[in-house]
Amino acid sequence: MAQADWPWALLLILISPAVGSFLGVLVDRLVVGLPVVARPSSCAACGARLAWRDMVPVLSALALGFRCRGCGAPIPGHLIRIELVATLVALISAALVPCVVPMWLSCACLWCLTALFYSDLLHMRLPDRLTTALLVLGMALAVTDPGRGWAEGLISAAVGAGSFWLLRVAYQALRGREGLGLGDVRLMAGIGAAVGWAELPAVTLLAALLALAVAGVEALEKKSLPRGDTRVPFGSYLAAAAAVFVVL
Ligand SMILES: [Zn+2]
Repeated sequence: MAQADWPWALLLILISPAVGSFLGVLVDRLVVGLPVVARPSSCAACGARLAWRDMVPVLSALALGFRCRGCGAPIPGHLIRIELVATLVALISAALVPCVVPMWLSCACLWCLTALFYSDLLHMRLPDRLTTALLVLGMALAVTDPGRGWAEGLISAAVGAGSFWLLRVAYQALRGREGLGLGDVRLMAGIGAAVGWAELPAVTLLAALLALAVAGVEALEKKSLPRGDTRVPFGSYLAAAAAVFVVL
């Protein structure tokens, strides 16, 4: 990294826990259509408004013993995990991506993928606003990459969305029910733009392997085979797999 880039890398890492805190709000509010910015932060159990000292990422939760100051209800674990993941991906971006603009754009893509990962995992939803944000950030990554450019970004987005749309139509024709949601199709447009069309088969393969590994572990734990109609948050696996290819 160039000498002049260090302050920018440091700033990225410093803001990351607060960004993680905001991503947690996005994950919980976007899926139920609540306003994200206008509503002040409050306890999900008792509705008490949170003071600034209760909103310091990770540290407030530690100081409060992971419970609400007012009612004592446990602070949802995913909120703290999202803050930690957001910080971790900022550290990884700063360590692996040498120039400031791609570093910040890659990190923003990873933050967006983190929110999408948890949305699908917790709520089985991939909110349009998050998949659109990923597409915009992915296109910005393509445009600022001298080896790619906007045309390649657009083609990659079309290949990602198009291939999953075909899979969706084929599955519906064969099985008579929805296997892949439109959210997954939109997600693949953003992933395509972010990583480039050539990486899409590898992203999809890694996502499928992750899904199989998790299903295998769950089957071992429950000592029963997963059923054919079990809902799998495949968007989460796609987001996790894409994250690997965004920084490598
Ligand atoms: Zn409370």
